[in-house]
Amino acid sequence: MTRSEFETAANRVKWIGMPILSCVLLLNLVYIHFIFIWLQAHHILGPPAPGQPKPDGWDGLRFGAEISLIVCPPLGISLWLCCSLTNRFFGLRCPHCQRYVTLRCMPEIVLESGRCPFCKEKLFEGGDEI
Ligand SMILES: [Zn+2]
Repeated sequence: MTRSEFETAANRVKWIGMPILSCVLLLNLVYIHFIFIWLQAHHILGPPAPGQPKPDGWDGLRFGAEISLIVCPPLGISLWLCCSLTNRFFGLRCPHCQRYVTLRCMPEIVLESGRCPFCKEKLFEGGDEI
């Protein structure tokens, strides 16, 4: 692997992954929006329906826990899938330890040192030697 091949792959992950990540975040916001519309339509969120008792503090705490159980898993799973699949299809693996070196902030570290940030093996010539 050469330095320019690595830079090309890192840019490919960045420029393909960021629009996909943005779309996934937008879809998650639409999902959360519809959840809150559904909750308001069923008088779970907002003013209580006529004849219902006024909620107390424990109801609010229980409601927050339930909402986070509904919202957080799909958000986390979709973000993890987005990052994982982008790296799997467009990223590069270290030939020595087989871990993705184009993940998150790894390209800057790899370009600076020329080495895998996990196993410290040399990936290409031209980095600053540590
Ligand atoms: Zn490695």
